[in-house]
Amino acid sequence: MVLPQDSQPPVNILLAEFSSANYQVLVDELARIPATVARVSDPKDVSPAVLEKKSALILMDIEFADADDFQVVKKLRSAVETKFIPIILLADIGKNEALFFKGYEAGCVDFLFRPVKPEILRAKLSVHLDLYHRQLELQEANDVIRKQNRLLQQQAVRDGLTGLYNHIHFQELFAHQFYLAKRHVHPFALLMFDIDFFKEVNDSYGHQVGDIVLKKFADLVQAEVRQTDIWARYGGEEFVLALPDTSEQGAVNIAEKIRCLISTTLFKYKEITLQVTVSVGLSVFDSRMKHPAELIEQADHALYQAKSQGRNRVNCYEPGGRGPYDPCDNSPGGSDLRCIRERLRNTLDKTRASALASFEAMVHSQTKNHVTLRRRNILASRLVNAIGKRLNLPNNVIQSFHRSFKLHDLLRLFIADTALDKEGCLDQAELEAIRDQPLMLKELTDLFDFFSDERAILRFHHEYYDGTGYPEGLDGYEIPMGARLFALVDAFIAMNNPNYARTPMTHDEIIQEIENQSGKQFDPFLVNIMLEVLREKDNLFAGDIKDDEAQL
Ligand code: GH3
Ligand code: MG
Ligand code: MG
Repeated sequence: MVLPQDSQPPVNILLAEFSSANYQVLVDELARIPATVARVSDPKDVSPAVLEKKSALILMDIEFADADDFQVVKKLRSAVETKFIPIILLADIGKNEALFFKGYEAGCVDFLFRPVKPEILRAKLSVHLDLYHRQLELQEANDVIRKQNRLLQQQAVRDGLTGLYNHIHFQELFAHQFYLAKRHVHPFALLMFDIDFFKEVNDSYGHQVGDIVLKKFADLVQAEVRQTDIWARYGGEEFVLALPDTSEQGAVNIAEKIRCLISTTLFKYKEITLQVTVSVGLSVFDSRMKHPAELIEQADHALYQAKSQGRNRVNCYEPGGRGPYDPCDNSPGGSDLRCIRERLRNTLDKTRASALASFEAMVHSQTKNHVTLRRRNILASRLVNAIGKRLNLPNNVIQSFHRSFKLHDLLRLFIADTALDKEGCLDQAELEAIRDQPLMLKELTDLFDFFSDERAILRFHHEYYDGTGYPEGLDGYEIPMGARLFALVDAFIAMNNPNYARTPMTHDEIIQEIENQSGKQFDPFLVNIMLEVLREKDNLFAGDIKDDEAQL
């Protein structure tokens, strides 16, 4: 027989009868198990008492229950909070059987016959309390399942990062609104957003920062939209906002509002602060449209135009050819610094890769070690990729490491000598050779920095010899020689080939101007040399300039 265990929380049992004297034996018996017994002697007190005590079991005198055709039992059975609490009726064995059946019909689960025998009482308590505990367990399990179901349902429709509706769910909601608009001929508009140059955010600050920007972007727009709008993550850094009952002008207004808001928001993470812009494509429902995809396609098309016309703008759909979309084309917006940098970076990445590949091919043709080299390289790549991922390193940093590792291994073959591979003790000269290695590697690697000299020239070519130039205000010989020379030549050519905004200068005027600027804008030493060359101007300008062009 299983009675409530000490490990289980003590149960509450309610004893419902008119006269407390009748059941003293029962009360004494119940006192032996971990249970608390509460007593009620008025049928209208039963329900409140059961609820208050959270009763696990009700023992009820049959006369008490039958007071009004088992109404007390029926009432307990019909209330949500009490319908599963077992009720055992206490009756005399000789009672009319029909009454027992009525008791069962009303919802009691069992009978105990008076005078109550302790063994029978214990057996019945054991069965019903055990059932009661199992029921509680089932209820708890049910609650957990219900919660998990809710979560799964959420995950099926929500995007994990931003909490917005995901692509699939958007399509469903969007199609519904589309057909409603079609049926009732209501206005309906769609905005498609794509964050500009988002790859650069990831590359410069890492994916974690990228994720934070996406989340904040989603929240910012969320705060701007109406409850009836459908705001969703379409994928990656692309978002959609469906606007039921919204005209084209209304949609333009909200699109512009969001575009402005984003372009003036500072996105912050730790010590990083950055700004992004967003391009928006807008399409408006037309009753001739048959399928939701048509509206999406038009917004996508408009977004594409917004990108190719410079980004950070809202474009309404206009029919017409899509034209080739070079993300960094030569249109006005395509010439901003980020765009130019992106184009150059892509080209230079290819240059770096091909420089390394030809160097690698040369080394491999001269060494038998290339299999070992390749293996080292693969292992290093895997390690760096894994570490980079954990540290959220930008891709360009990881790529730079890969190139360094490869260069190191390839160059090492040129400077390797017996000392580096020698087993046992090294002599002084061999030790020094090893210490020299990093510097030798640096010097050789400098050869791969194709534009380091040019960089200095271009950076400082607006510095003035007397220190009044820019960007750093360097003076005299602080300015690299190449930059001083560049400034002089550049100025001469500008004076020689004036554009329409300047009055043309004669040769003598140019010489005069250069002399005037000697020691101010220009290096006097270089000016003297320049003037010497210019005095021989006939030599300088002799011959057909086309011949020189052919040589360049
Ligand atoms: P454009 O102005 O032409 O749109 O340039 P873009 O750099 O934004 O466009 P591109 O399509 O080249 O790059 C999109 C980037 O968005 C690349 C991808 O790694 C990044 N991205 C997509 N989804 C996520 C994400 O969930 N988290 C992060 N951090 N980055 C993402
Ligand atoms: Mg994109
Ligand atoms: Mg983008």
